[in-house]
This record gives sequence, C-alpha cells and structure tokens, in this order.
Amino acid sequence: MHQEYQSKTVNVYGDKFAREKNPVPAYQRQLSTRSVTFTCIVCKKSVTQERYPGPAPKYCSDVCRSQHEVERNEERVRKQREKRQALAAQKRAET
Ligand SMILES: [Zn+2]
Repeated sequence: MHQEYQSKTVNVYGDKFAREKNPVPAYQRQLSTRSVTFTCIVCKKSVTQERYPGPAPKYCSDVCRSQHEVERNEERVRKQREKRQALAAQKRAET
C-alpha cells in the first residue's frame, strides 16, 4: 500500500530519474499532452493532434516535413544558381 503510493508520486512529478527509467507513464501522457489544432504549412490542412506543450507544430506528418525540406532545398539551389548567373553577367559586363 505504502509502496504503491510512493511509485505513484514519482510518476506524477516525473522527476529526471523517473523519466529516464520510464519515459512516458500512461497516465502522465494524458496529463501533459493537449489537443492542438494547427494548419500544416505544407498541405494547408487543418489538423488536430495530441501534442506536448511547446511551440506550435508546423507539419501534419513526417511526409509533409520532408516535403518541406525538399522545397527549401530547391529554393536554396535556385537562389545559388541566380547568384551565380548574376555574378557571371557582372563579369561579362566588366570585361
Ligand atoms: Zn501536411
């Protein structure tokens, strides 16, 4: 009886050591997550997900997250190409 109470206390407060041993006690998850409704910046869908408190999520899924990374990469490559072309044009103008 007494022991049961003790283990419960540890989980509820979720101190560092308790978390390392047992990262997500079932009922602690219920306490610390909340429903967050946000719009995915990739597919523009409005989704509601169980999330831990923190910055608002941007992606509805890992698929959208990697999709966005691909787009960012393409954007970066495009800008580099434009810069190179501008430099080349500048050089042509100079000579
Ligand atoms: Zn999405």
